[in-house]
Amino acid sequence: MRVTLLGTGSPIPDPRRAGPSTLVQADGLSVLVDCGRGVLMRLAGAGVLPPMLTAVFLTHLHSDHITDLGDVITTRWVMTPGPNPLKVYGPVGTAEVVDATLASLAPDIRYRLDHHDDLTEGPQVEAVEVGPGDEFALGPASVVVGATDHRPVEPTVAFRIEADGRSLVLGGDGIPCAGLDALCAGADAYVQTVIREDLVRLVPNPRFQDILDYHSTVEQAAQTAARAGVGTLLLTHYVPPLQPGQEDGWRALAAAHFGGTIVLGEDLTAVDL
Ligand SMILES: [Zn+2]
Ligand SMILES: [Zn+2]
Repeated sequence: MRVTLLGTGSPIPDPRRAGPSTLVQADGLSVLVDCGRGVLMRLAGAGVLPPMLTAVFLTHLHSDHITDLGDVITTRWVMTPGPNPLKVYGPVGTAEVVDATLASLAPDIRYRLDHHDDLTEGPQVEAVEVGPGDEFALGPASVVVGATDHRPVEPTVAFRIEADGRSLVLGGDGIPCAGLDALCAGADAYVQTVIREDLVRLVPNPRFQDILDYHSTVEQAAQTAARAGVGTLLLTHYVPPLQPGQEDGWRALAAAHFGGTIVLGEDLTAVDL
């Protein structure tokens, strides 16, 4: 199993970091987890094009995690010779977002259907709404859905993917909670979006300070990883943006709480499990 941090950014525009998105690849499986800003550029950088995706998983419906869902839908549609339905798994509300995204694309879909004789139907997208405790098979993989705590944003979910004899948890946004601990238990790897509390507190902006109460800090992500006994912790969605040369400082904050492997870095940082 390979996990690639496609986009390691956040809502804050960053010329070097795409928005939140992670690619999970295993034998016969390519899953895109969240679709932040610029996701298809990074997906291409990982050697994957939209028609090749097995499915899209959404951890929650905050804009930074879904900005480019329309690009994924449209580009998969126009790059595929025949029908290639896309399944989008996400929390309750995902169907509403998929329907609204398709509605926003209605003129474009009309233009292309009118112009291309070989294109006879619009993009086929199936929203599958899931909640904590759900399990489903996806090709050779099995997937378990867990609860996260990103309140007041609700509902939100995390995914545990088991394939190739390996297990990986995609934690999404949120603070530590029992549901996430249970989902992570014994996993080979765990991807968590994080913020640096010490740096955020330096910015005297009330709206920015608000992010502190519903995101894991680097230390909290490390503590979750340690409690659950995971092997590798991957940090992403850096707030404030991780600047070149700061990697060791971020890693040290996590290493104080977690003795396993800690991975962070630029977009397209990849780990083979
Ligand atoms: Zn969020
Ligand atoms: Zn986010």
